[in-house]
Amino acid sequence: MFSQNVFDKTNSFSTPFYYYDLDLLKQTLEIVKQESEKYNFIVHYAIKANANTEILKSIKSFDLGADCVSGNEIKKAIHCGFSPKDIVFAGVGKSDKEIDTALDADIFCFNCESLQEIEVINELAVSKNKIAKIALRINPNIYANTHKYITTGLEENKFGINFSMLEFVLDDMKVLNNTELIGLHFHIGSQITDMKSFKLLCFRINEIQNWFENRKVKIENINVGGGLGVDYDEPDLYRIPDFASYFKLFNDFLEVRLDQKVHFELGRSITAQCGTLISKVLYIKKAVNTNFIILDAGMTELMRPALYQAYHKIENLSKRKSIEAEQLKYDVVGPICESSDCFAKGINLPETFRGDIIAIRTAGAYGEVMANDYNLRDRVKAVYSD
Ligand SMILES: *Cc1c(COP(=O)(O)O)cnc(C)c1O
Repeated sequence: MFSQNVFDKTNSFSTPFYYYDLDLLKQTLEIVKQESEKYNFIVHYAIKANANTEILKSIKSFDLGADCVSGNEIKKAIHCGFSPKDIVFAGVGKSDKEIDTALDADIFCFNCESLQEIEVINELAVSKNKIAKIALRINPNIYANTHKYITTGLEENKFGINFSMLEFVLDDMKVLNNTELIGLHFHIGSQITDMKSFKLLCFRINEIQNWFENRKVKIENINVGGGLGVDYDEPDLYRIPDFASYFKLFNDFLEVRLDQKVHFELGRSITAQCGTLISKVLYIKKAVNTNFIILDAGMTELMRPALYQAYHKIENLSKRKSIEAEQLKYDVVGPICESSDCFAKGINLPETFRGDIIAIRTAGAYGEVMANDYNLRDRVKAVYSD
């Protein structure tokens, strides 16, 4: 049913385009809601995964908060109906202008990544006669067992405040009267499929909480970040990530204090499977050891393979019916003038021809948001299942 519906869209829309299955998005959100509410967990959607207006409106309709990493994301979240009271703002390099945007909007919380940032937020809050609510993003030094470009919780990464600096930060904050410490924030990386990493995170947070308690600092909010992975190999078998186990793990291992609220920031796990990049084959080129399928979509539409060697399942929708068709080895590439503009090397596909429709699956997160117009290409469009 997926392939036929998508295939039909190619009659009315020119390729390449992102196809979003809004039903799957809704089913995913229903599960997120149902499983997180069991434990009164609060979920913020990480907008950077997919900031498409239709997608955001859908997510907003399930009453999630928003996790933003820029001033413009904050503006977009509010524009799409998210309440500033449910917005958290992270990022190692918040500009003065972005901080002003957040202060003016009265967002829920700044997730702060350095002492100097806290000082600047305080200073800007003074000039507006406001109190900025902040959480300390602590680098827990945990190996997330994912690609090195999307691991964020190791000491060598630029993110968060090192545990060894905390004493100093707390001391310094005593004189910053226009900031109020309301929580702790963590985020150890993305596309994490090994649940042990989250378990380790819980243990680490428990230790860090004790540290704060020993210093009589009350922590009202614990934000454990996001990072839950999705199945890029079998998108049809695992359409919705295992949110039940994920939230249960935090309930089992995180020591939550009385009246304390636990927050999550999920991006990829909510939107990845509902998006597919649809492209048409421009040319087949025979080469020495392989055949090239040259698509009309490239790294300008989906950058993940070029950026971090990400794998996406590729299907020839035109050939779905002839399962018995001979499989050939192909390199699937885009039209951009870069050798890294390659979606897959040496994969088996049924014999493919000019004009065939190709689906690049699991592209709903970190796909359309990273699209650009390099080579002065047209901006990729979006098409919806309804
Ligand atoms: C990117 C990011 C997220 C979301 O990560 P996913 O892997 O998409 O769930 C959450 N929190 C912060 C601070 C982030 O930077």
